[in-house]
Amino acid sequence: MPIYSHSRLGCYENCPRQYKFRYVEKIKPEEEMETIEAFLGCRVHEALEHLYKYAGMQIALPLEDVLAFYDAKWEGCWSDAVEVVNKEFSAKDYYRVGKKCVSDYYKRYYPFNERTLGLERLITIDLDSSGKYVMRGYIDRLAEREDGRYEIHDYKTSAFLPETDHFDADRQLALYQIGVEKNFRDAKSVELVWHYLRHDKEIRSKRTKEQIDELKKETISLIDNIEKATALDNFPAKESALCNWCEYQEFCPKRRHLTQTQQMTLHEFSNDDGVRLVEKYAQAKSKEKELEEQIEALKSAIVEFAHAKGLDAIYGKDRKVTVSERTGVIFPAAGEEKREALEKILKCSGKWDEISSLDTRALSKIILEKAPTDWDEKLLGEITKFAEKEKRYDVRLGKVKREEE
Ligand code: SF4
Repeated sequence: MPIYSHSRLGCYENCPRQYKFRYVEKIKPEEEMETIEAFLGCRVHEALEHLYKYAGMQIALPLEDVLAFYDAKWEGCWSDAVEVVNKEFSAKDYYRVGKKCVSDYYKRYYPFNERTLGLERLITIDLDSSGKYVMRGYIDRLAEREDGRYEIHDYKTSAFLPETDHFDADRQLALYQIGVEKNFRDAKSVELVWHYLRHDKEIRSKRTKEQIDELKKETISLIDNIEKATALDNFPAKESALCNWCEYQEFCPKRRHLTQTQQMTLHEFSNDDGVRLVEKYAQAKSKEKELEEQIEALKSAIVEFAHAKGLDAIYGKDRKVTVSERTGVIFPAAGEEKREALEKILKCSGKWDEISSLDTRALSKIILEKAPTDWDEKLLGEITKFAEKEKRYDVRLGKVKREEE
């Protein structure tokens, strides 16, 4: 089993297909793209690491030196492969943001005399005693207070500041806590500290033993799911807002055509078979919608006419329309409280079998997705004998938000 990390787990949760590209197929995109957000994060982390390296030698570097280090790193590492995805801003804007992050942090924590035990410290996390579920991570800064409390510090340069509840449920630093508690037995307690540098904010959280035990269980179950997906080669592409930052768009079945069309000339674009098919399909669907609306309007007019004239049938040239009335009933929908009460009555009365039938959709899901996992393999095998696999295609029309829009 591979050694997992928080980012590896996060990658699978965000998009299993991206996980496959990155960790299973280990695809190296031809043009290695680095987003400006990631670039900015690295430069700020380096500057703070530099600052604490000197602080560990009892030297509080002047702010100008730290900023000069940041400048040198920014210039030295810059390349054309750094992509500014959000076209509203320029690289210079991000450079300034990074600079402000460093100087705000500096002013807030000067003279940095807290005891630092490690910078970019590698930590091994054993999730159980089997030695099977081992994870690895890097702590931005591990510190110890005078009273023996340990602190796991994490620097964030993202513009988005999550709500407080997020930190009490955050997985990354809580996983590091497991590693710290195991590897530093003198740690009296461990506190998790996030620095949201763009906002000049410090957020703290603690975990109880019960929360840590629950986290271990959840993480083991997630790793089991990833291993199962790997064995079955089941990595569906999960499209989201994060796709714009994904370096595998040119390989991804959900985004490949988009990236191809973005590189086409106007002439190539209008003559592309895929583009033409989509345009024709969109036109046909819009006519279909119009027709459906017309049919509904005509139906209402026919019913009204038949009522007014007391007719059950209306005749045209060589067609007729019959109008009949029937009474339907509506029961509470699944999930509603009243529905549960209704089902209870039917089940208790022994009449349930007369009105219920096998939910083959739910059964298909269980067979195809092997969920829920508590179904016995033998039972699944028996049921699978009755199932015939067939390919189905859903064709749906959606909107594309292009960058220039
Ligand atoms: S482009 Fe989106 S859907 Fe495709 S692999 Fe990347 S994140 Fe997943």
